Amino acid sequence: MKISSIVLVLSAATFVATVAQASTGQPFYGDAPDAHHPWCVHDWNRPQPPVVAPQPLKDAKPPAGAVVLFDGTEASVNNWEADKQGHEATKWILKDGVFQCVPKSGYVRTKEQFGDCQLHVEWASPTPPEGESQGRGNSGIFLMGQVEIQVLNNYENPTYADGFACAMYAVSPPLANALRAPGDWQQIDITFRRPIYKDGKCTDPGFITVYENGILVQDRVQLEGPTGHMKRPEPRDLGETAPLKLQDHGNPVKYRNIWIQPLPPRTAADVAKTVPMTEEATAAKRKEIAAMVRDAAAKLPAGSLDQSLRLAESLVYEKDEATCKTVEAFAAKFVGDLKQVPADKIESKKDEAKRVYNAFKYLTKFKLVEPAQLSFAELEGIVKAHGWDKH
Ligand code: MG
Repeated sequence: MKISSIVLVLSAATFVATVAQASTGQPFYGDAPDAHHPWCVHDWNRPQPPVVAPQPLKDAKPPAGAVVLFDGTEASVNNWEADKQGHEATKWILKDGVFQCVPKSGYVRTKEQFGDCQLHVEWASPTPPEGESQGRGNSGIFLMGQVEIQVLNNYENPTYADGFACAMYAVSPPLANALRAPGDWQQIDITFRRPIYKDGKCTDPGFITVYENGILVQDRVQLEGPTGHMKRPEPRDLGETAPLKLQDHGNPVKYRNIWIQPLPPRTAADVAKTVPMTEEATAAKRKEIAAMVRDAAAKLPAGSLDQSLRLAESLVYEKDEATCKTVEAFAAKFVGDLKQVPADKIESKKDEAKRVYNAFKYLTKFKLVEPAQLSFAELEGIVKAHGWDKH
């Protein structure tokens, strides 16, 4: 066997060994599984994200209203500062329109603060690739400075699944590995929804959606708190806004075309409006709707059919005792009057009777009123006797 053939065989064997290691490497490392997490943090038994072909590079110009954080100019470098104490000018360099990490200079952060946002970032890993696993082209995008979307050269470079490029680090591996080759530009699009806390209680954990080179890799994944190495995050209030950070992990990773579109602020009140609403928020909203309907009823002729039915409508939203009594009294009178109508005139009451019947039928069906109290059985008897329920 020629030496070159031996090398080839050995290379293949090494590659197989590397792949095999992906399911067994480095146990007893990150935090252990718990009741909600079947895997350890950084668990090599967690499946590797499948390789998926990236979409072609797209024209990703910032939309109107977006904050341009880096556009290749010196001026846009001034949007950033060192994350180290003192927050001096960053030592990261601007070269050929590219913002490049200088190893050991520390993280950079934006001077401006952001919360909910749409974020676009482009990055490229150093070539030729050096190091392996987490040591190859590592950086990171830290939303609100605390939740890392991993930047890593995973092109033919296995690592633990929750540390892959576009993983929410230590939490959620990407759905796919859609990376281009080392040195090529990678386009990342993120939608970030911060956690919402009210009176110290979490009302919305926050979510993140990520596209890597046009491929969905995080599908509205729930946040679990600030991410970190080996540690299971713990949910925490991150505040309303915080600087965006980029990581110095010791590799000269390059960045370009970074813009952020702040999304309308989301408060606890906004969360309460989402579906399904909390019981508390729903009760409050139903009370509000009932009051609005009663107000509308108050403008109609007192004691009229229209007013009574509008009041009955308010009971759909809220069981108000006074309104119940008014509606019951109307129903009793209506049915009493109906019984007095001579047989040859009864057809003239058909439409009114049907309207009242339909309202009460609905209220009883959904147990919004007590049927007996609304003379419902009597009314139903009359309606059915005349076949008004048929058409
Ligand atoms: Mg990183």
